[in-house]
Amino acid sequence: MTGISIRDVSKTFQVREESFTALDGVRLDVRRGEFLTLVGPSGCGKSTLLDLVAGLAAPTGGEILIDGVPVAGPGLDRGVVFQQYALFPWRTAQANVEFGLEAKSVPKKERARRAREHLELVGLAGFEDRYPHELSGGMRQRVAIARSLAFDPDVLLMDEPFAALDAQTRESLQEELVRVWERTGKTVIFITHGIDEAVYLGQRVAVMTSRPGRIKEVVEVRFGSRAGDLRADPAFGEYRHLVWSLLRDEVAAAQAQERKAASVHG
Ligand code: ADP
Ligand code: MG
Repeated sequence: MTGISIRDVSKTFQVREESFTALDGVRLDVRRGEFLTLVGPSGCGKSTLLDLVAGLAAPTGGEILIDGVPVAGPGLDRGVVFQQYALFPWRTAQANVEFGLEAKSVPKKERARRAREHLELVGLAGFEDRYPHELSGGMRQRVAIARSLAFDPDVLLMDEPFAALDAQTRESLQEELVRVWERTGKTVIFITHGIDEAVYLGQRVAVMTSRPGRIKEVVEVRFGSRAGDLRADPAFGEYRHLVWSLLRDEVAAAQAQERKAASVHG
């Protein structure tokens, strides 16, 4: 298990002659084995932050440590599920899930078994031999999720992985993800724009400000028990309201920024 420490991280992009600050002074510690959800207005830098933790990009300032070691690039300890399904079009669903296991040198038979097991977990038993173009968008995303779970990294970084799924599939995958997390003790950072999803999944919900993104507040979510229908628990509604009110001002600020940018460039 692994802990993540994000220390005063900033990220500036150079767009032609202008520099554009996406993140500014992000400070956040994610405990080992913690499930943290991250919400914030569109464009506030959530995906950028996840890319930095994944090691796909480097921060302009500050640093990110995993288990005390600075992130210097992608690693087998971290698995990423992107907003858009990132599958190899020339590989079947089964072979896509097996891909990460090849990198980890898992023997062939074991790879096949684990891939089948995880495709079944996401409701895709019987679709092993389909190519991405023979699957719906939601099914492709489920293959990507199966791939990251089969890969079994210590840290799971998920960027709105369920956004494109229908409500029924989303809820069943949320439950499945919680079960996997409870069983394996992975450290999870899960980005979502769904307040319900953030409160349902997260032990803590980190709320970001509008751009440049910083952590505005971290809400600790506590239920008496996870058994039964969590969403019907009165505490669920209270947390939901709290996160909603923290987000409301930031979303308004982000929209004002967009209008201003549109009037300058328009
Ligand atoms: P979110 O995921 O919260 O919606 P992003 O992290 O995708 O936001 O983007 C944050 C801001 O950084 C946006 O304004 C986006 O346009 C900008 N951005 C992201 N990646 C790049 C890049 N590679 N070059 C320039 N600007 C970028
Ligand atoms: Mg994003």
